[in-house]
Amino acid sequence: MAHLPNFIQKLIAELDKLPGIGPKTAARLAFDLLHRKEDMRDFAQALTEAYNQIHLCPKCFNLSDAGLCNICSNPNRDQQLICVVAHNQDIEAVEKTGKFHGTYHLLNGLLSPLEGVTPDRLKISELEKRIKDDKVKEIILALDQSLEGEATQTYLSKDLKKFPVKVSQLARGIPMGANIEYTDEITLSSALENRKEI
Ligand SMILES: [Zn+2]
Repeated sequence: MAHLPNFIQKLIAELDKLPGIGPKTAARLAFDLLHRKEDMRDFAQALTEAYNQIHLCPKCFNLSDAGLCNICSNPNRDQQLICVVAHNQDIEAVEKTGKFHGTYHLLNGLLSPLEGVTPDRLKISELEKRIKDDKVKEIILALDQSLEGEATQTYLSKDLKKFPVKVSQLARGIPMGANIEYTDEITLSSALENRKEI
C-alpha cells in the first residue's frame, strides 16, 4: 500500500478500525468510495453530522440527540422496570418485539477479564444509582449467551442482591453463543415473557 497517496492510506487505515472489517475489505471500500465522489461527500457529511450531534442519554447511556433519550423521556415507559443490555443494537432487538414497556440501561460492553474489561469499566455504579433513585422494582438481564455474557450476569446477580429489587434473566431458548442482536423477535419475545428470577 506504500505506493498509494497518503490520504488513501489514511482512509483505508480508518476503515480497517471498524468491527468485522479486515485490511482487504477496508481497501475495497476505500477504492469504491473514491470512485463515487458524490456518495463520498454524503458519507463524509453524515459522519460529521453524527460526530457533532452524538450525545449519550445521562440516564441509560443510549444514543440520543440531546438530554434524555426518547425512551427515558417517554412518560408511558415504566422507570421502575429496567432491561440491562450490553450494546445499542440489543435495545433495537428488544424494542422490535414490542413486548417491553420499561426502560433500558446500557452497560457499554460485557465483563471480559482477558481483555481487561472489569466491572468498573461498565456502567454498573450508574445502574445502582438508578435502582436507588427511581426505586426500581425489577431488573431484567438481557445479555448475550456467551462466556462474557454469563460472567456479567453472574456478577450482576450477586452484586444487585444488596438492593430490594427483583433480578431476572431471559428464559432459555436463546441458543448458547447467540447474541441478543441476532435473536429473532419471536424467540426474544418469549424469552422476555418467560424470564426467570435469579
Ligand atoms: Zn435514556
